[in-house]
Amino acid sequence: MLTAMGDVMRRAYEKGWITTRDGNISLCRAGKKLMYITPSGWRKTIIHPEHIIKLKMTDKEIKVPKGSKPSGELEMHYLLQRTHKKTMAIVHLHPTNIIAAMYAGWDLQVLASEFPEVSRYTKVGPSVPVLPVTSPELAEATFNAMTKDNKIIYDIVGQAAHGVCSIASNPWDAYEHIERLEHICEIALKSGVTPKSK
Ligand SMILES: [Zn+2]
Repeated sequence: MLTAMGDVMRRAYEKGWITTRDGNISLCRAGKKLMYITPSGWRKTIIHPEHIIKLKMTDKEIKVPKGSKPSGELEMHYLLQRTHKKTMAIVHLHPTNIIAAMYAGWDLQVLASEFPEVSRYTKVGPSVPVLPVTSPELAEATFNAMTKDNKIIYDIVGQAAHGVCSIASNPWDAYEHIERLEHICEIALKSGVTPKSK
């Protein structure tokens, strides 16, 4: 699965869903208090298992070993991974059409409900407003959007003017949630229909 983390990043780059150094992925295995996460600033096209950073985590904190530089979105991954009991992968990318659809005013939850290819397989949560990248505010808002009573209830949420956070039992399943939502956002944008104002 560590190999899949790099493979997902390469695919995301090929799709144009990240620029070279964007995006991040974390993974926690069932019953283990360890988080595997992509490094900060690294070229995501050349991520391989030996580049992935391993961090010890408890319910209260996550320890970053001296000299290692995990993703700037570590806090977002930690808040969500802290709830994990089963194996869980979290993928954060910047998919073009999802971001464009939010920018155009589409409500991703409403949009997803109209397309069975998404609504059958992917639970879309409420989008997070525009917040500074790598900020604690973004981490907390993403956590709140994805969870209820400290349990993760959605597969993916949008982050306005920024990206998405997607969760599944492995990196490729999380990627598929993004892919499905990205596809219908592209369709909605190409349709020329403008979103109904709320
Ligand atoms: Zn980002």
